[in-house]
Amino acid sequence: MTPSERRKLPERIKRLDELATNLWWAWHPKARDVFRMLDYPLWRESGHNPVQEVYNTPDSKLEAATQDVAFLSLYDSVMEAFDADMTAKDTWVSANYPELASGPIAYFSMEFALHNSLPIYAGGLGVLAGDICKEASDLGLPFVGIGFMYPQGYFHQHIAADGWQQEIYRQLNFEEAPISRLNPPKGISVAQVQIEDRTVSIAVWLVKAGRVNIYLLDTNLEQNTAQDRVLSARLYTADPEVRMQQEIVLGIGGVRVLRALGIHPAIWHANEGHSTFMVLERIREEVGRGVPFNEALSRVRANTVFTTHTPVACAHDCFLTNLVDKYFSRYWESIGIDRETFLEIGRPDVEGRAGFNMTALGLNASNQRNAVSKLHGGVTRRMWAGLWPNLPEDKIPITYVTNGIHVPTWIAAEIQRVFEKYLGHDCLEGQHDPAIWKKILDIPDNEVWEVRQNLKVKLLNFMLDRAQRRWAEGDVTAQQVVTMGALLHPDALTIGFARRFTEYKRPTLLFQDMARLKKILNNPFKPVQLIFAGKSHPADWAGKQLLHQIYAIAQDREFQGRVAFIEDYDMHTASYMTHGVDVWLNTPRRLQEACGTSGMKAAINGVPHLSVRDGWWYEGYNGSNGWAIGPGPEAAFSDRQDEVDAQSLYRILEEEVIPLYYDRDRAGFPHGWIRVVKESILSSVTLFSACRMMMDYTEKMYREIPQSIRSKT
Ligand SMILES: *Cc1c(COP(=O)(O)O)cnc(C)c1O
Repeated sequence: MTPSERRKLPERIKRLDELATNLWWAWHPKARDVFRMLDYPLWRESGHNPVQEVYNTPDSKLEAATQDVAFLSLYDSVMEAFDADMTAKDTWVSANYPELASGPIAYFSMEFALHNSLPIYAGGLGVLAGDICKEASDLGLPFVGIGFMYPQGYFHQHIAADGWQQEIYRQLNFEEAPISRLNPPKGISVAQVQIEDRTVSIAVWLVKAGRVNIYLLDTNLEQNTAQDRVLSARLYTADPEVRMQQEIVLGIGGVRVLRALGIHPAIWHANEGHSTFMVLERIREEVGRGVPFNEALSRVRANTVFTTHTPVACAHDCFLTNLVDKYFSRYWESIGIDRETFLEIGRPDVEGRAGFNMTALGLNASNQRNAVSKLHGGVTRRMWAGLWPNLPEDKIPITYVTNGIHVPTWIAAEIQRVFEKYLGHDCLEGQHDPAIWKKILDIPDNEVWEVRQNLKVKLLNFMLDRAQRRWAEGDVTAQQVVTMGALLHPDALTIGFARRFTEYKRPTLLFQDMARLKKILNNPFKPVQLIFAGKSHPADWAGKQLLHQIYAIAQDREFQGRVAFIEDYDMHTASYMTHGVDVWLNTPRRLQEACGTSGMKAAINGVPHLSVRDGWWYEGYNGSNGWAIGPGPEAAFSDRQDEVDAQSLYRILEEEVIPLYYDRDRAGFPHGWIRVVKESILSSVTLFSACRMMMDYTEKMYREIPQSIRSKT
C-alpha cells in the first residue's frame, strides 16, 4: 500500500506519496525540507517518517500547502531533482563501465539500515548494506537488495535505574513504514521453501532507495505454521536452529523470490555468511538442468562475490552437523552428492570449530572474495589459509575493499552548507576528488568553529529533550536524568564513544585509572565530558556487565555529571552523536575490529578520530587528522595491551588533545584544533566514502567477473 491508497492527496501535490515511499528523500536535504514544511509537528512526532506524516496530515494542512507559493516551489524543484536522478543516463557507471548494465547485482544481506523509520537493522553490518544500496543508486550501478522485513526488528534498549539493559521489542506498523507489498498474480506468497517437511510461503515487501529496489522477505502468512510465521519476526535470534531456518529462507528463498519476480542477476553478492545458502539453491537449479554437481558448483562460483566482515571466529555462523543433517539431507540427495561432499563445501578449517561454516561456504563458492579493510585483509587470509593448503599466505585469493560511509546520509546539513558555500554546490558529487576537497583548508576558522559548536549544542539539546520527556513520564529517577546528560556543558571538550557493547571494543578502557580520569574530567579550567551509547546483544553477558559498569560511573557524583549514557543507540542517535561531539574514541583490541565505520561518520563532520590503529584507522591515520593510541597492530599478541593502551590514551588526552582544544586566540578560536578538524574532513571524505568504496567494488570485484558469465545467467 502507498499513502495515496490510504488517503487522497490534492492533485497539485499528489506525488508526495511517491516521494515519501522512496527513501531517496532521506539523503536529499531539500526533500526532507518538503516534509518538514508540510507539517513540522507531525514530522517530529513521527520520528522523521514521511509515510506516517503524509498519512496523518489533516486535510486542511494539505489544502493550505497547495496554496503556499514557497512550499510549491520547493516541492516542484524537489520533484524535478527526483525525476532527474531516477532517469539519469549520465551516471558514473554508464560513463565508465556500460557493460555492467547487462544485469543487476543481487546483494543479499541479513540486515539493511536505510533510515530509522525502517528499523530492520542491528548495527554496523546493516548500516553498511544500506549505505551500499544508496551509493549504488547514486553511481548508477544496477543493483537489487534481498533481506528480511522484520516486524520487531532488533530490540529497543532501556537502562533500568540499577544499570542493567532491558530489551524491549515493539511491533512495527507496516502501514506506516516506507514499504509496499508485492502482490504477485497468484496471491500474496511469492515463493516457497521447504523446511523439514513443511512448505513455508514467503511474501515480499519492496523498499526503494533511489533507483535501487530492496526486496524484503516475510513469512508471516496465514498458510504458514505459527512457528514459521515468526521466522522473520526478529533479527539475530540466539537459537541456532531458528537461525538456520532463517538463513534457509534468506538464501534459498531469496533466490526463488528473484526468479519469481523475473529478475536475472548478472552477479550474486553475499554480504557476510548469513546469506550464503543462496549458492546451494543456484547449484540445485543447475543440477536440475542436467549439469553435474562439480560443473554446477564452478558455474555458480563464477559469478558469486562474497564479503566477510569479522575476524572474530565465534561471530561466524557455524552449524552443528546434526542440524545440517536435519535440514539438508534431502538437499544433497536431490543434487546427487553424498553427505561428505556436501559437508566439504562448508568445511570450516578455522580454529578447529567443527560443523558447517557459512563463511567457508561463501569463500569456497565464490570467485571474488573480500575483507573490509587492508589490515582485515591480511587477518582474513591468515584465518582462512586452511582452505587453500597449497598456497602461501600472501597468495590466498581474498582481497579487501575498505568500507566507506554514504556521505550525503551521514553529513550534517549545517556542515554541508558550509562545504557548498566554499567548495561549490556540487562538491558532494566530487567526493573522491582531493582537488575539490583541499579547499576545506581555506575555509575561515571561525565558520568551522561556529558550525562545530552549533552541532554540539544540538546534540546536548537532543539529550535534554529526551531526559525531560522521560522525567515527565515519571519512569526515571533524578540520578538517571543526570546520566542522560542533564549536566553536560557545551563549552567542555566532549568525547563520544558509541558502538555495540562487547568486550573486544573495550568501552571501559578509559576507566582503568579512575583517579587519573577524574583529574582529567574535573579540571575546572579545561573540563572534559564523555558521552556513551550502545546496545549489547541480548546473549552477550560480558557486554552487559561493561555497560552496567559505565552506567554506575555515570551516576557517581565524583564525576560531577560529566559522564552520560544515551539509551537505544540507533541511526538517529548515531547521527546526533557523530555530528555533535568533539572527538570520537575507538578502543578495540587489535586485529578484532574488521573496519569500523562510526569513526568515519564522525570524521566527515569534523570530529577527529582518537583510536587504536586497528580497522580503517590503520589506513586512515596520517599524523595530522587525529590521534593513534598505543603501538601498531604488531602489539596484537601482547598480553599487556589493555594497560599500555590505557596509559597511552591518558597521555594523549593530557598532553595533546586537551591542550590543543583549549589553546585559544584572543577571540576564543582554537586554530590548532580547527586544523585537525579540517584535516579530518579532508582525509575521510576523499578516502572513506561509500562512493570510493563502490568504485572499488566495481573495479576490483564486479568487473573481475567475466562479461561472458555475467550476461549468461
Ligand atoms: C555506524 C553505526 C554502527 C557501526 O559502528 P562501528 O564503529 O562500526 O562499531 C553501529 N550502529 C549504528 C546505529 C551505526 O549508525
